[in-house]
This record gives sequence, C-alpha cells and structure tokens, in this order.
Amino acid sequence: MAHADGFALSSPQIEVLRRHGSELAATAGTVLVEVGARSYPFMVVLEGEIAILDPSGGELARHGPSGFVGETNLLSGQTVEVSAVAATDVRYLAVERDELRRLLFENAPLGDVLLSAFMARREELQRVGGAGIEIIGPRSSEPTRRLVEFARRSRFAMTWRDTHDDPVAAAQVAGRLETELPLVRLPGGAELTAPTPGDLARALGIGRQLAAVEEVDLVIVGGGPAGLGAAVYGASEGLDTLLVEGDALGGQAGTSRRIENYLGFPAGISGADLALRAITQARKFGARTATPYKAVGLEAGDGVHVLHLEGGHRVRARAVVLATGAEYRRLPVDRIAEFEGVSVFYAAGPQEGRLCGGSDVAVIGGGNSAAQAAIWLARGGDPVSPRPCRSTSSTISPGTASPCGTAGRSPRCTGRTASWRPSRSRTGSGCRCSSCSVSSGRTRAPTGWRARSPPMRTASS
Ligand SMILES: Cc1cc2nc3c(=O)[nH]c(=O)nc-3n(C[C@H](O)[C@H](O)[C@H](O)COP(=O)(O)OP(=O)(O)OC[C@H]3O[C@@H](n4cnc5c(N)ncnc54)[C@H](O)[C@@H]3O)c2cc1C
Repeated sequence: MAHADGFALSSPQIEVLRRHGSELAATAGTVLVEVGARSYPFMVVLEGEIAILDPSGGELARHGPSGFVGETNLLSGQTVEVSAVAATDVRYLAVERDELRRLLFENAPLGDVLLSAFMARREELQRVGGAGIEIIGPRSSEPTRRLVEFARRSRFAMTWRDTHDDPVAAAQVAGRLETELPLVRLPGGAELTAPTPGDLARALGIGRQLAAVEEVDLVIVGGGPAGLGAAVYGASEGLDTLLVEGDALGGQAGTSRRIENYLGFPAGISGADLALRAITQARKFGARTATPYKAVGLEAGDGVHVLHLEGGHRVRARAVVLATGAEYRRLPVDRIAEFEGVSVFYAAGPQEGRLCGGSDVAVIGGGNSAAQAAIWLARGGDPVSPRPCRSTSSTISPGTASPCGTAGRSPRCTGRTASWRPSRSRTGSGCRCSSCSVSSGRTRAPTGWRARSPPMRTASS
C-alpha cells in the first residue's frame, strides 16, 4: 500500500481552511476527483483516508487525517492526471481553487506548506510514470522532439513512446502521414493529432489564448527569473502587465535542481519551486502570463510599441521589457538537431540522469553546469566522461553504432551512439558514448527581431 507523503497541516491551519471551505462526507469507494477533470477543490482529510490512484488503478499515495489532496495543477488549472478515491468512509474539507489561491497569498506559512507539497508531488508524478500525457511519435520527427522537450520543460507528467523502439506504439500510428505525428493522448483519453506546444498547453487547460490584438501598459518577453521579477514589480505598481513566454515559464532557472545563491533562500531552493513561487506571486498582483507565445518582432513607436508574436498576434504596449535570457551554445555539428532532447542534452539534472540510466555519457564542458551535470548523471548510475571544451569546433559523429537499446541499455535514452572529438585535443582521442550533456556556455538569446530604435529596457542576464 502507498504511504502518505509526509505533508500535513497543523490544527490552526485546518481551522483557517475550515472558514474558507465546506465540510463534506463520502462513503468508501466514492471517486472524489477523476482523471481528465478540469478542476477540483483542495481537500483536507478530517477523518478516514483518501487514496491517490494512477490511471491504471495503482495506488500512488494515501492521505489520512491532517493530510490533503492537491498538487500544482490546483494553481495552474492543468487537467487532472490522477484520481482521488475515498479509501474508507471519509470526512473532509473542500476549498474551492480560487479561494485557496487567495489564501496562499494571505497566509505565508500555509502557502509554504502547500507550495512545497505541490512541487514535491509534481516531481513524484513525473518520476513514477504511467500518468499524464502520452506522446507517440518517432525521434526522427522534429515536431515530436519539440513537443517532448516542451512537455519536459513544462513539468507535465509524460510518457514518450518512440515508435522507432516500440512496436506497439508504431502499430498505433501505422498509416498516418508524417505530418500527422505525433499523436498525443491526454489524461482522460482525448487525442490530439500533431499538436503544437500551444495546442497541447491549451488542451490541458493551461496557457492563455491571446486575442489577435492585446493592449497593455507593460509587456514582458521571457518568463525566466528576470521576466517574472519584472512582472511582479510591474503588476504590483498597478500596471496592466502581460508576460509572454516562448517555452515554459521558469526559464533556465526552472530546470535547476537546487539554487543555493538566490537572495532570500539561505537553505537553497529548487528551480521549479522558485519558478512556481514567482509565477504565483506575479499572478497575485494580477500579471497575466501567456505561453507558449514567441516574440518575433518589435516595432518601437512613439508612446506605444507593438510586439509581434508567432502566429500573427500583436501586443500594443506603452512599455516593453525584454528578458529573453541566454541561449545555449550549440556544438557546430551536422544533424545535431536530430539528437537534441534524445541523446544530446544542454545541462543535465535528475530527469536526464533517469533517461540515460546506466549508459555511457560524455559531459562536454568544464564549468559549473558541466560539473552539476556530471554529478547528476553519475548519481543516475551513468559512467561519465568529462570532456573539457578546448575549442568550439568539436566534432560529433552520430549514427556509427547500434542503438543503445540493442546494447542492453535503456531504449528510451538515446538514438545512436555518438563519438565526440575535441578538435584541438592533445591526445586526439575521441569518446564513444550513448549520450552527451553539452555545457559549453551560453550566449545572449537571439536579438535579431528586437526593435530598431529605443526606448526599451533589457533585463536579460
Ligand atoms: C541547470 C541550470 C542550473 C543553474 N543553476 C544556477 C544556480 O545555482 N545559481 C545561479 O545563480 N544561476 C544558476 N543558473 C543560471 C540561471 O538559471 C540563469 O542565470 C537565470 O535563469 C537567468 O534568468 P533570465 O530570466 O535572465 O533568463 P532565462 O532563465 O534564460 O529566461 C529567459 C526566458 O525567455 C524566453 N524567451 C527567449 N526568447 C523569447 C522570445 N523571442 N519570445 C518569448 N520568450 C522568449 C526563454 O524561453 C526563457 O524562458 C542555472 C542554469 C541552469 C540551466
């Protein structure tokens, strides 16, 4: 039987929640939250037990008195991926989502407990697999890889079924044109054909649909720490603030396992937790966030600037903050895109460690991120070869050996074995490995689309 996850509320906290919710009862076996539901109330167990089940009925956790049901989707509005069932006769408090959000803003100690629990549960959901969306498509398909990467960065619980390795999945999409891939199954069973990241986000109930033309006081491009910080300041000063993000909110920081040097968190904080807190804080002041919308052009005007987004949307704003951060330096290698997100990763944390479990991995780079990547990959059981970068003109020769699946390793982790050779290496030796983590530094995000003339403020790192 699964156990409670250790998060519990104190009696005074339950009393606060009681004032904002209603007390309900259910008999054993009642389904309180269904997979695929659009929304559900926050639930605090007063008596009895509530079980959390994955879509196949496997028990993931069980919450008893003082325990509670809820995770990050209570705040984001994302479609429910697991069900909650009364394991015994149960008495519980139900607090509606909007009411809970208000409480989180007003009651910091309660907010701390809930946000920590929500983040830990999201990580657990991503770790255990079997819940969430299913993406079916081959790694040779760019739209499939793009969607998988978006789902990973957005911290969706997800299973990718690569049709190159999975005959059952291949049969499920047999006869479809390449343009009809990937096939995506949502929690609850609905299917999407070749969705864009935006289609997927909106089908999951997150991601604001922008009007063709939006008018705001302040538009911010980029949802990393700098952009989210700007959103908090703008909105808290009363500006009608819109933040547009081309990928997942949180930026690079959102992928960091633990940030030790961020002001105000002496014990450190995970990047995902920092991002969730920043997003919650920005929304508290009324900032709107829109993802994924990529800015592609900016016309600086006299008093009103026009930001152009992919898909033809425009945002008219009196002020624009560009917080587009940095972009990873990529190895100048033919066909590198085919391997990115499959067996070449820019930075590596626990997720990549799990994906590459037990395979040979080369870490390219010798700085801070490379060291972090080496630690996480080695913890995942991978034999790691650190390869300090001496030159940016390294070579990687993909496709020379068998898929690592045939070598008895996780078929999920890679496409093909790659060999890597620093062009000015003294030894001249290459490295044969199944995966690469590339940490060869960053450059500013591309700015070709930016305005031709001031005024604008840039808040990129
Ligand atoms: C694995 C890892 C660990 C790290 N650990 C630490 C640490 O411990 N301590 C530390 O101080 N720093 C750490 N960093 C660095 C830190 O995360 C960055 O310095 C920080 O995220 C920079 O914030 P930012 O908002 O300026 O840019 P970013 O975080 O890069 O965010 C920029 C955002 O802008 C978006 N964007 C770019 N162009 C567009 C466009 N045209 N339209 C819409 N959106 C766009 C991007 O998608 C991105 O989300 C780490 C980074 C990584 C990757």
